[in-house]
Amino acid sequence: MTIYDTNNIFAKILRGELPCHKVYEDEHTLAFLDIMPRSPGHTLVIPKQPARNILDIDPDSLAHVARTAKKIAIAGKKAFNADGITLQQFSEQAGGQVVFHLHVHIMPRVEGVALLPAASRKEDVKVLEDHATRLIAALKG
Ligand code: AMP
Repeated sequence: MTIYDTNNIFAKILRGELPCHKVYEDEHTLAFLDIMPRSPGHTLVIPKQPARNILDIDPDSLAHVARTAKKIAIAGKKAFNADGITLQQFSEQAGGQVVFHLHVHIMPRVEGVALLPAASRKEDVKVLEDHATRLIAALKG
């Protein structure tokens, strides 16, 4: 049986033990930038309630993640003048999961521009700061 590891990277971010480029937070979810973005504005939404992935998450917690994902998608489209949005969620190693706290990837997309390969390049901190600022401004309306 697969169990939730309380020492995974995203659990540490939730506890404030590791930094992140925060974009949005509410009672149930946290959204922050992926440090190896596949497109500008690539954001991860996670539940605050511990869950390994889609297979064990409480349905209500998943619904909170979905609500936040929609907010981030709309803000990402606006902030990056995107033509579309790609959502991804990987569950278990065979499903492509690397970090074992459920997360949804939200990637703003521009027509004709391919996603970078996953985990191919760590983005510059200044760029991530700028992208977080743009998303936060777009979330304000
Ligand atoms: P996956 O589990 O396959 O969805 O991949 C984990 C994702 O988390 C990858 O896109 C990584 O770039 C991203 N990632 C790993 N560590 C961090 C971190 N400390 N902060 C933000 N994103 C991260």
